[in-house]
Amino acid sequence: MIEQQIKSAVRDIPDFPKPGIVFKDITTILKDPALCEGIIDAFIEKLKGIRIDAVAGVESRGFLFGLTLATRLGVPFVPVRKAGKLPYSIKQKAYELEYGTATIEMHTDAFEPGQHILLHDDLLATGGTVTAASDLIQEMGGVVSGFSFVVGLGFLKGKERIAPISNNIIVLAE
Ligand code: IMP
Repeated sequence: MIEQQIKSAVRDIPDFPKPGIVFKDITTILKDPALCEGIIDAFIEKLKGIRIDAVAGVESRGFLFGLTLATRLGVPFVPVRKAGKLPYSIKQKAYELEYGTATIEMHTDAFEPGQHILLHDDLLATGGTVTAASDLIQEMGGVVSGFSFVVGLGFLKGKERIAPISNNIIVLAE
């Protein structure tokens, strides 16, 4: 039900951001408040039984549902940001992109060592971004207790890549 609603709402943009890529545009989901509410409800239902002390969302589209999810779970939201955006003391992690590297950062006081963190992003492709975010969380003494995504591109095998980190992988539509 929710899967079909998400699939119907997502807009495919061919050749964005470069030729040959079909970009999944989720801004069309954001225009539908009932669907946004349904997405949060679906996450809450599927996350039952998983220890979550904080939700970490990946810049920038991971912020959209990440904060609402954290608020509904009654736990803090932690932004995982691109390099140079966070104002306080930070810890960072560089990771490989198809071409070149990227760096993500978190505040050093984002959570307490030993806390269980749900990692959230809008979309799972290769899993490279959340793997880097997981590494960072683990280096800071956290435990990644699961992952949540609105959309997954199954053919890129992201789930297989992140399964060794946690088997709690929630993808609402793939
Ligand atoms: P991955 O690291 O290959 O799993 O790529 C996932 C990251 O890239 C997420 O932060 C997504 O927001 C972004 N991303 C990759 N492809 C798309 C897309 O088609 N639509 C929206 N975001 C995408």
